Amino acid sequence: MMAENGEYLNPIETISPEELREIQERKFLKQLDYVWERSPFYRRKFKEHGIDRGEIRGLGDLPKLPFTEKDELRRSQEEEPPLGGHAAAPMEDVIRVHSSSGTTGVPTFVGITEHDQRVWTEITARSFFTQGLRRSDVVIHAAGLTFFVGGLPCKDAIERIGATFIPIGTGASDRVVMTAKRLGANALHCTPSYALYLAEYVRSRYKMEPSELGFRKLVVGAEPGGEIPSIRRKLQEDYQCRVTEGLGNSDAAPIIFGECPYQQGMHFCAQEFIVCELIDPDTGEVLEMRDGAEGELVYTLIDRECCPLVRFRTHDRVVVWTSPCECGRTGFRVRCLGRTDDMLIVLGVNVFPSAVKDVVMSFRPRTTGEMVILLDKPGPKVDPPVRIQVEYTRGVTNLEGLKREIEGALRERLVFRAEVELVEEGTLPRHEMKASLIRRLYEEQGPEGAPR
Ligand SMILES: [Zn+2]
Repeated sequence: MMAENGEYLNPIETISPEELREIQERKFLKQLDYVWERSPFYRRKFKEHGIDRGEIRGLGDLPKLPFTEKDELRRSQEEEPPLGGHAAAPMEDVIRVHSSSGTTGVPTFVGITEHDQRVWTEITARSFFTQGLRRSDVVIHAAGLTFFVGGLPCKDAIERIGATFIPIGTGASDRVVMTAKRLGANALHCTPSYALYLAEYVRSRYKMEPSELGFRKLVVGAEPGGEIPSIRRKLQEDYQCRVTEGLGNSDAAPIIFGECPYQQGMHFCAQEFIVCELIDPDTGEVLEMRDGAEGELVYTLIDRECCPLVRFRTHDRVVVWTSPCECGRTGFRVRCLGRTDDMLIVLGVNVFPSAVKDVVMSFRPRTTGEMVILLDKPGPKVDPPVRIQVEYTRGVTNLEGLKREIEGALRERLVFRAEVELVEEGTLPRHEMKASLIRRLYEEQGPEGAPR
């Protein structure tokens, strides 16, 4: 681990907060001029909020600008195809289009120019380098490659570091096994749910331990999981190697935060490209970034040509640390608690599905670790008891006792009352890509109220 100290992809990773703010402020004002001139969506939006360009003189005035919600981008794209009124570059300058499905399932498109691609590559490469990827690494990419921002941009970033990129994609576990052995791959990049799935897969199909695949670095992201203590423990035990995670946003940049080998949260890696704010998700009030502060991340892009974003609400709920990290990077650190859209409120207590998963995982091997929260009506408010299906491992006896123990642990650790329904091993769907910890029963009703 020590050998990785003092190694940075870009010297800006150790810049002082004061110096960084100066750079950010200069670029923010320049970007704002650009947006005002080129983006009909933002010009209209600022006008509706009665804001003059002259009023915004620096980053201190940023809170005067209105938030941007994902839904607005989706509507803007429907009304002004192909990329929406927020887009600020002509289609002929766009070199690639990505898409994000978001939570509602209707995809939105994100176009990038050559310049935007260079910016994405720099940020994403910085995140991977922070996570410990180096020129000598051979990296298997077992995640999506089409449309998904965690695909081709990761190829660009890994190649930028000089490491070897092996594009396997999804649904090809046999190819992962074969390639890992023949090419001597030492790093795996995928979602945490895929890493869990692959471990189970090689045990049952190849009768081998996941550690025998030979990965020394497991780099995960694109969904919560890497930060859940019991999942991380299991992955580190299964693969006998270090797990680090990254956090990105399909509209802002593929990977924006990367965790260093000290594993004390993910460092901010988009220094001169994105201004981050931490807000109270209920009131919208800007919160001070300090150790332990909790809130929602808001991004303002300060170097984007095609699809600029001003105060874009990510709905990612995070805890922040600003105290120095042993690796020497000055970028603040975050741990993602989950999406604010997925958060449940049970009698005033905030409950994140990932925290419930952590409790269920802690009952392994009596549970398989698989679980799903059942919602009869839209959240976030849920009346107790909260219904949770949990898979028990085949052969386990005294199910009544196990059910009571899990309910007790949820009450004690997460302070809410649950009704646990134990289901047999293999009942709940396995996810090779993104795991869903909530099942919304009310969305599954047909037009006449009959289940689909
Ligand atoms: Zn660090």
